Amino acid sequence: MSELATHETSAASFALSAEQEELRSRARALVEREGFAERSLEWEQTGEFPWANVKALAGEGLLATTIPVEHGGNGGSWMEGALVLEEIARACWVTAMASLGEIGVQSQALAAYGSDEVRAKYLPQIASGDLICSVCITEEQAGSDIFSMSTIATDDPDSGEVVVNGGKALISRGDVAGLFVVYVRWSQDPGMRPIGAVLIPRDTPGLTIDEGRETLGGEKLYALSFDTCRIPASYVLARENGFKKMLTAFNGQRCLNAAISVGLAQGAQDAAVAYVKQRVQGGKALAEHQGIQWMIADNEIEIQSARQLVWRAAAAASGGFPNRHDAAIAKVVSNEMALRVTDRVVQLFGGHGWLKEFPAERFLRWARYGPLGGGTPQIQRTAIAREVLK
Ligand SMILES: Cc1cc2nc3c(=O)[nH]c(=O)nc-3n(C[C@H](O)[C@H](O)[C@H](O)COP(=O)(O)OP(=O)(O)OC[C@H]3O[C@@H](n4cnc5c(N)ncnc54)[C@H](O)[C@@H]3O)c2cc1C
Repeated sequence: MSELATHETSAASFALSAEQEELRSRARALVEREGFAERSLEWEQTGEFPWANVKALAGEGLLATTIPVEHGGNGGSWMEGALVLEEIARACWVTAMASLGEIGVQSQALAAYGSDEVRAKYLPQIASGDLICSVCITEEQAGSDIFSMSTIATDDPDSGEVVVNGGKALISRGDVAGLFVVYVRWSQDPGMRPIGAVLIPRDTPGLTIDEGRETLGGEKLYALSFDTCRIPASYVLARENGFKKMLTAFNGQRCLNAAISVGLAQGAQDAAVAYVKQRVQGGKALAEHQGIQWMIADNEIEIQSARQLVWRAAAAASGGFPNRHDAAIAKVVSNEMALRVTDRVVQLFGGHGWLKEFPAERFLRWARYGPLGGGTPQIQRTAIAREVLK
């Protein structure tokens, strides 16, 4: 274990229970044993879904971290989810993104708001890594402005089914997901009231998925289209007036998105610490130059501070969902911190930081995702200000 990791553990024991420390160590050991860091660039370059890593996480019981015990999971909270995701992101952002839904928002939304039928059917499959979920909110014309979405769900009184029409854009894991949590509107009324969510299995007639678009992080993003997709009424997660409850799950997602930012920033810092200790310039290791030490110190200060906010937001949920304000603050601070830290890390590597064979450049690219997904910093700041000013 590096000096940094030892130091980090002693600081962490201030806040974590023995069980949480054990969980974190187990996640770290698995990530190292399975070589998540070593293969991380490969997943990006091939665009393949990291099944090997997801299966390894499932085998260790980590994919089921937050799934209720009665549905094959470990019954952990958002805090446990954040700890595991931080360890994954420290080595491989692609895998962190691949398991975010299972460890976080989709499985939690299903557990909290799904019917008995869908919980019994899908949660054990998610826990075992046999079923990947994807959340579908964004539309080509409705990004941050969620309430302008046009995908619509209507009840068919004859069959008792729900019929969904419309389309989604920029969706992760459209290639592999077996189940989509799709946000819909139930009427054309304006504002939040008509927005709810349904579950649409991949094999539903009328669902088509495109070939995906190339991205900065390697993972393709997909467009889905729903042409008279029929689902049982038991596949509804939220009807009209249900958006607020879905948002509670989304506040959890924000904590976990923030945990990923903290993890990848820590991974970048670990790589930089190792590099500046062995790279000699001006007759001594880079680490002995004061200017370098201050950059390492700034990284440490920022990572530790952001981590505390993530833990605070996740821990305050105490078995429920994190509140919007805490989650928004944790997300903005962590996302923006990761951009600064990974940028500094590229600088610490110098020109070598630009090379793909060194880890610095990939952490910088990965950090760019945080402020784009799960609600941008602009939207989070609007929500934070609204809370402060009310
Ligand atoms: C890697 C990746 C994975 C993704 N995966 C998914 C997924 O699985 N499911 C899903 O549903 N979506 C996903 N998204 C989409 C993501 O959630 C949206 O890109 C995000 O919500 C922003 O929407 P937009 O791209 O339409 O940007 P816009 O909403 O068009 O925003 C453009 C810019 O304007 C700013 N802005 C917008 N409105 C305001 C305002 N009122 N005040 C101030 N500034 C504002 C934004 O902050 C942003 O900087 C993913 C995106 C990425 C990059």
